[in-house]
Amino acid sequence: YAYDALEPYIDARTMEIHYDKHHRAYFTNLVNAIKGTPMESMEIEEILKTVSTRGDAVRNKGGGYYNHMLFWNNLSKSSQGPSEQLKMALEKTFGSFDKFKELFNNAAKTRFGSGWAWLYLNSEKVLAVSSTPNQDNTLMDLSPVKGTPLLTLDVWEHAYYLKYQNKRAEYIDAFWSIINWEEVDRRYQTALSGI
Ligand code: MN
Repeated sequence: YAYDALEPYIDARTMEIHYDKHHRAYFTNLVNAIKGTPMESMEIEEILKTVSTRGDAVRNKGGGYYNHMLFWNNLSKSSQGPSEQLKMALEKTFGSFDKFKELFNNAAKTRFGSGWAWLYLNSEKVLAVSSTPNQDNTLMDLSPVKGTPLLTLDVWEHAYYLKYQNKRAEYIDAFWSIINWEEVDRRYQTALSGI
């Protein structure tokens, strides 16, 4: 989608710098970090699941590349709500959709410094909310919170500073207007079926 596709919630200039500079750098640096290694022929998910053995460059660049890919794909201006099945699962796990939203917002707000907020499906196939520092994610074997990522929010300052400055909470509120629930639901179905 175009850089201005998520206006006014995320401004075009932020999107342009975020995608064209930050994300591209993660991708280029990941390619360089795995050049000439067996990782070149591996799926990114498999690399991340064994990232503790692969060094900090792969952890940071690989996480940065993968997290941003998830993030762009779970954003859309034509946001509907979650599917009935996912909505019921959220209500069952968290008590209500609003309670889930509150927990996710808290995870995003209280992540000190840079990182990501997550909705993920844990190994017991139960929905969970948490956050990770820097470019870590819930696929990584070294992460204390593990599972299949379903929805993510970038809370690095570069994701919101131009428009929201220090007001991270306003950026988090705006996020709820641009969630691509179709994509979140697709990930949920895939994670449930264990593929
Ligand atoms: Mn970012």
